[in-house]
Amino acid sequence: MKKIILFVLLGILGILFLLFLVRLISPKEIDDVSPEISCSEKYLKKSSILWVIPKFQGELISEDKEWCKYILSLNKTLGLHGVTHEFEEFNSNRNQSYLDEEIKIFEDCFGFKPEMFKPPQLKISNKNEELIKNNNLKLKGKFNQIIHKVYHCNDTGKFSNKFIDLF
Ligand SMILES: [Zn+2]
Repeated sequence: MKKIILFVLLGILGILFLLFLVRLISPKEIDDVSPEISCSEKYLKKSSILWVIPKFQGELISEDKEWCKYILSLNKTLGLHGVTHEFEEFNSNRNQSYLDEEIKIFEDCFGFKPEMFKPPQLKISNKNEELIKNNNLKLKGKFNQIIHKVYHCNDTGKFSNKFIDLF
């Protein structure tokens, strides 16, 4: 009996250690990038992928050209992170024109179309999942969040950015 417990414990430790290594080498990301949310430049620069909210609190990113220029100057991969980022936005079904608007705002700001999508709070309905895939957007969800270090602007994630830095 004792041996079994020991094996299980070693197994769990092994998996955690593996996860630690995977997170160490996989590119870092930052969620909730918007001109309306203050974001530490330190974490923007540390990240390879910036997840942008196109229309947070009704403000279009495309209307803040300075911000668009600044984000482009960081030379990072940019992805779509919902439209307005309201709570579980993509857990209720959205249609093509809803997504079209989002893609247009993104394109007006950065000059190219997004290729990746991460739903707010990582919640997405089956129908929306299809919608995202039909638009040739790569969908990133919970698994992606576990195997990458993901910071949050404003430090509002489940774990603080400092903790993410450590693990
Ligand atoms: Zn978010």
